[in-house]
Amino acid sequence: MKMLRCSCCGGIAYGKQWWNRDKGYGLCMKCADTIEAKEGLQALLMGYGIRGIHICEEPMVESDPEPTDYFLSHSTGEKQPLPLE
Ligand SMILES: [Zn+2]
Repeated sequence: MKMLRCSCCGGIAYGKQWWNRDKGYGLCMKCADTIEAKEGLQALLMGYGIRGIHICEEPMVESDPEPTDYFLSHSTGEKQPLPLE
Protein backbone atom coordinates (compact mmCIF):
# COMPACT_ATOMS: atom_id res chain seq x y z
CA MET A 1 0.00 0.00 0.00
CA LYS A 2 1.22 3.44 -0.91
CA MET A 3 0.42 6.97 0.05
CA LEU A 4 -1.19 8.63 -2.93
CA ARG A 5 -2.81 11.93 -3.73
CA CYS A 6 -6.57 11.88 -4.07
CA SER A 7 -7.38 12.75 -7.67
CA CYS A 8 -10.75 14.05 -6.54
CA CYS A 9 -10.14 16.35 -3.57
CA GLY A 10 -6.35 16.57 -3.61
CA GLY A 11 -6.06 15.16 -0.14
CA ILE A 12 -4.03 12.21 1.00
CA ALA A 13 -5.22 8.82 -0.20
CA TYR A 14 -3.96 5.35 0.61
CA GLY A 15 -3.95 2.24 -1.51
CA LYS A 16 -2.32 0.55 -4.45
CA GLN A 17 -1.78 2.39 -7.70
CA TRP A 18 -4.76 1.76 -10.01
CA TRP A 19 -3.89 1.42 -13.69
CA ASN A 20 -6.62 3.85 -14.73
CA ARG A 21 -5.19 6.67 -12.59
CA ASP A 22 -2.17 8.85 -13.18
CA LYS A 23 0.92 7.68 -11.34
CA GLY A 24 0.86 8.74 -7.72
CA TYR A 25 -2.86 9.41 -7.72
CA GLY A 26 -5.57 7.47 -5.98
CA LEU A 27 -8.81 8.13 -4.21
CA CYS A 28 -9.50 8.76 -0.56
CA MET A 29 -12.28 6.96 1.31
CA LYS A 30 -14.34 10.10 1.60
CA CYS A 31 -14.41 10.67 -2.17
CA ALA A 32 -14.94 6.95 -2.80
CA ASP A 33 -18.13 7.19 -0.75
CA THR A 34 -19.23 10.29 -2.66
CA ILE A 35 -18.54 8.75 -6.06
CA GLU A 36 -20.20 5.47 -5.16
CA ALA A 37 -23.28 7.32 -3.94
CA LYS A 38 -23.42 9.53 -7.02
CA GLU A 39 -22.23 7.26 -9.84
CA GLY A 40 -22.55 3.78 -8.41
CA LEU A 41 -20.20 1.00 -7.41
CA GLN A 42 -19.39 0.02 -10.99
CA ALA A 43 -18.13 3.50 -11.83
CA LEU A 44 -16.02 3.48 -8.71
CA LEU A 45 -14.54 0.10 -9.63
CA MET A 46 -13.76 1.05 -13.20
CA GLY A 47 -12.36 4.45 -12.47
CA TYR A 48 -10.63 4.05 -9.16
CA GLY A 49 -10.22 0.42 -8.20
CA ILE A 50 -11.27 -1.88 -5.44
CA ARG A 51 -11.99 -0.82 -1.91
CA GLY A 52 -9.50 -2.27 0.55
CA ILE A 53 -6.90 -2.69 -2.20
CA HIS A 54 -6.74 0.48 -4.25
CA ILE A 55 -8.82 2.58 -1.91
CA CYS A 56 -7.82 2.18 1.70
CA GLU A 57 -8.38 3.79 5.04
CA GLU A 58 -5.44 5.53 6.59
CA PRO A 59 -3.23 2.75 7.95
CA MET A 60 -3.22 2.31 11.68
CA VAL A 61 -0.04 3.38 13.35
CA GLU A 62 1.54 0.38 14.96
CA SER A 63 1.14 0.57 18.68
CA ASP A 64 3.86 -1.92 19.47
CA PRO A 65 6.90 -0.25 20.91
CA GLU A 66 9.72 -0.24 18.43
CA PRO A 67 12.56 -2.59 19.22
CA THR A 68 15.77 -0.73 19.79
CA ASP A 69 18.22 -3.24 18.37
CA TYR A 70 18.30 -1.78 14.90
CA PHE A 71 18.72 1.54 13.23
CA LEU A 72 16.98 2.95 10.20
CA SER A 73 19.15 3.17 7.15
CA HIS A 74 19.10 6.74 5.95
CA SER A 75 19.57 5.77 2.33
CA THR A 76 16.91 3.08 1.99
CA GLY A 77 14.71 3.53 5.04
CA GLU A 78 15.18 -0.13 5.83
CA LYS A 79 15.70 -1.47 9.28
CA GLN A 80 19.24 -2.63 9.67
CA PRO A 81 20.42 -4.81 12.54
CA LEU A 82 23.05 -3.20 14.68
CA PRO A 83 26.53 -4.60 14.16
CA LEU A 84 27.54 -7.02 16.87
CA GLU A 85 30.08 -5.70 19.29
ZN1 LIG B 1 -10.60 12.74 -1.81
